[in-house]
Amino acid sequence: MNIKKRCYPKIRLAVLFSLIVGLAVIITTFISVASSYKAERSILYDRTLEMNYSTSLQMSRTLGTLFTSMRLGLHTVSIHLFDADEVSQSADIQAKLDFFKNSNDYFNSVFWADAKGVVRSITSPNYKMDGTKLVSTPVQEALATRKATLSKPYTSASGRLIILMTEPVFDKNSVYQGFIGGTIYLEENNILDSIFSEKQADKTGSYYYIVDSSGQLIFHPDTSRRGENVSENAVVQAVKSGENGRKSVINTKKVAFLAGYATVPEAGWGIIMQTPISMLEKQQEEQVRKMLLIMAFPFILIIAVTIYLAHKVTEPIVWLAQFAKSSVRNPKKLPPIRTSHWIWEADMLTKTVLSSLKTMKDQNERLTDSTRKDPLTGLQNRRALDEVLALFDFAKHSFSMLVLDIDRFKQINDTYGHQTGDEVLKFVSELIQSAVRQKDHCFRFGGEEFIVLLPDTPLAVAFQTAERLRSQLEGTVSPAGRPVTVSIGAAEFPVQSDDLDELFRLADKALYKAKGDGRNRTVVADEGLEEVRSFIMDRD
Ligand code: GH3
Ligand code: MG
Ligand code: MG
Repeated sequence: MNIKKRCYPKIRLAVLFSLIVGLAVIITTFISVASSYKAERSILYDRTLEMNYSTSLQMSRTLGTLFTSMRLGLHTVSIHLFDADEVSQSADIQAKLDFFKNSNDYFNSVFWADAKGVVRSITSPNYKMDGTKLVSTPVQEALATRKATLSKPYTSASGRLIILMTEPVFDKNSVYQGFIGGTIYLEENNILDSIFSEKQADKTGSYYYIVDSSGQLIFHPDTSRRGENVSENAVVQAVKSGENGRKSVINTKKVAFLAGYATVPEAGWGIIMQTPISMLEKQQEEQVRKMLLIMAFPFILIIAVTIYLAHKVTEPIVWLAQFAKSSVRNPKKLPPIRTSHWIWEADMLTKTVLSSLKTMKDQNERLTDSTRKDPLTGLQNRRALDEVLALFDFAKHSFSMLVLDIDRFKQINDTYGHQTGDEVLKFVSELIQSAVRQKDHCFRFGGEEFIVLLPDTPLAVAFQTAERLRSQLEGTVSPAGRPVTVSIGAAEFPVQSDDLDELFRLADKALYKAKGDGRNRTVVADEGLEEVRSFIMDRD
């Protein structure tokens, strides 16, 4: 079965740290903005509903007072309309109507219609209506009831959308003489416009409208809507049934509003002050935008500090990771060692890792030493010899090789015992080491045989070294109680051979010759070295 190892994408610690803090800041900001948005919305809605309610109440009182004054004014004129004598009566009526009309702004026009509904006198600029017989339902109602009336909005004989307020007129003999009518032109500038003009739609988009008892619009900022029946509207239904209050409502145009409403009992009207919810939302959005703008700078600052801190906090870990990686992959090129870090955990981790790396290194060195050293003499062993030779060979580094063998060592063992034999081996090793240079390499090749490598040393010089060594041994008492001697074979790399096996064979052959020639002597390999031979011959 082929099991594939899953490889997850790796993320850097500093990036992760920054992401976590960044995300936390964003979520916190979002939660605080959202909760303040929600809390403020409920406050804003409550405040708006309350404001609209109190405004509608106040306006309903104003409207009630106005209505009473209008009714009273019309009534006063109606009582005194026939005060004058027969001769001046017509001019007097016209003067009274004009005076009443001009002394206030209540009506757009004031007229007197006789018992048949014919206009007998009318204020300017509607003189042309004089003599017109009015046939509309409100007029018929006023004539029929002979009482004060207030009409719904309707289209008058002049073609205007109006409301008509009437007061019956009786002469001195209490004979019914028709009625006085005051009209409000709904689609033109009228008393309602001038009283409430300052309350027209403000920056919150709030506005008010007035409905009559049938749910028809008497006043609306959009003049084209005046006269429209909006009784389907829940708020209009509430005022129609005489309630005052506040509620959120969806109007006949499917727009959501926060409305305050109050009735005008004097006229049977209702006044509604309302604010479109969309405008409040816009207001809040604007607030949120401002809030975010204010938050932007600290937010950027926090993110910048976070990235800086993330870098600082993770720096030791990053260093440690790189150090650990390098110490495995490329131990020769380690990053500069830092033993102290400002974060406790990182500091501990670094110290622990460094100390275990050091322990590992020491153990490794010890292990390497033990595999490369001869335990009896402390010299390097044959394995080490192979390595050093391989290095010299690789670098084509010239050197001379001495192969030494203790003469008649078996006898020493046999005569003085194996232990003394060991002591002699140690003694010879030490003497060899002290007789050569620091840079020369001494090996125990096996048994009582040794090899010395002399880097950058011509064979002639190697010969001198060998001889010095040999004569020192010859003249020094060994642990056996007498001096021991050695026979030495020498050869030079790469002059005599650039092949290591061949070189060793040459040196060994020279050693064999030294043994054969009577021992306690040095013999150099004679292959291709006339000058060496002559040097030796000179010495002899
Ligand atoms: P030659 O002059 O021809 O070299 O004679 P030799 O006796 O030195 O040579 P041979 O090869 O016959 O004897 C070597 C002896 O070295 C045999 C062996 O017992 C002894 N030997 C080898 N290794 C050790 C060791 O570690 N300790 C001791 N004490 N003796 C050893
Ligand atoms: Mg031997
Ligand atoms: Mg020997």
